[in-house]
Amino acid sequence: MPLFLVRNDITKMECDAIVNAANSSLLGGGGVDGAIHKAAGPELLEKTKTLGGCEPGKAKLTKGYKLPASYIIHTAGPKWHGGNEGEADILKSCYVSCLEIAKKNKFKTVAFPLISTGIYGYPKDEAMRIACDTIEEFLISGPDMMVYLVFFDTGSYCIGKELYKEIACFIDDNYYEAYREPGHDRDARLQNSASITGNMFPSEVGRSFTEDDITECQYSIESMVRHMDESFTDYLLKKIDEKGITDTECYKRANVDRRLFSKIRSNRLYHPKKYTAIAFADALRLNLAETNELLMKAGYILTHSSKADTIIEYCINNNIYDIYKINETLFSFDQPLLG
Ligand code: ADP
Repeated sequence: MPLFLVRNDITKMECDAIVNAANSSLLGGGGVDGAIHKAAGPELLEKTKTLGGCEPGKAKLTKGYKLPASYIIHTAGPKWHGGNEGEADILKSCYVSCLEIAKKNKFKTVAFPLISTGIYGYPKDEAMRIACDTIEEFLISGPDMMVYLVFFDTGSYCIGKELYKEIACFIDDNYYEAYREPGHDRDARLQNSASITGNMFPSEVGRSFTEDDITECQYSIESMVRHMDESFTDYLLKKIDEKGITDTECYKRANVDRRLFSKIRSNRLYHPKKYTAIAFADALRLNLAETNELLMKAGYILTHSSKADTIIEYCINNNIYDIYKINETLFSFDQPLLG
């Protein structure tokens, strides 16, 4: 049921279906439509000629032909005329129509481009909001489907310029990278270090230890030792009970697949990836201290040596717990996503 934001060429996506932001003639065009027709081959046009076009907001299905995706869902988005001509409703309807087709055909994986945001001129931040809200609403209602929102370009529009600027300042103030000495590739070294210490000892490379670091490490080790008898799974399940939410609410809020949750639930000693663990902390609305407590059960801690961790800390401090918002924020800064 999760939604993922990815940067890719949608014609390369190996999904059950990709969505084509077509025009109402369905006879091909520029942008993503042109790219899809080119990659699918001439048989696609032969087929779309027989479909009788597509009204804005509606959708039609064809095979994927030479694409890695098995099917293409064609939809015609609204042209932007300033926002007072029902553009938002039509755009929402595009996503819903495509998702209904995907559900009816039992597709498990579907990839969307950001419909109408190219030639049709829809402002990207608004289109992105509609896309995410509509897909999330649809996924919450239960279909077992993974939806990818595929971006071709990078930009701050995902979260809006003001929030982007504010978080960029927070990163500047807190991310250790800012103090890095020339010649040290701190992030790469930390990422290469798969051991617990790679996550627990942010100051191991690039600069000398400070008292704060040492206190942090001592705190980390003490806390780990204190909690060694309680596993990540134990703590997670305890917190789910304490917070009075259901398992389903928890894994949905965490943008985690039901099967993965079952695996964690049934294995007391399950060792999650760091960003899966953070996703659960987020689903449980844990504060910073509790988040680190949960992470420590799996041998991790949030650190200012990681830009993603710094962003997550910002979100927790500002009560941003909507996983999709957090992921949009991480995505805006080119960081790995939660879940
Ligand atoms: P529209 O006519 O609906 O505006 P466009 O194809 O012009 O459609 O653009 C829709 C979005 O698709 C834009 O954000 C554009 O950057 C993006 N896009 C264009 N080509 C690709 C591609 N190959 N893969 C994914 N997204 C793409």
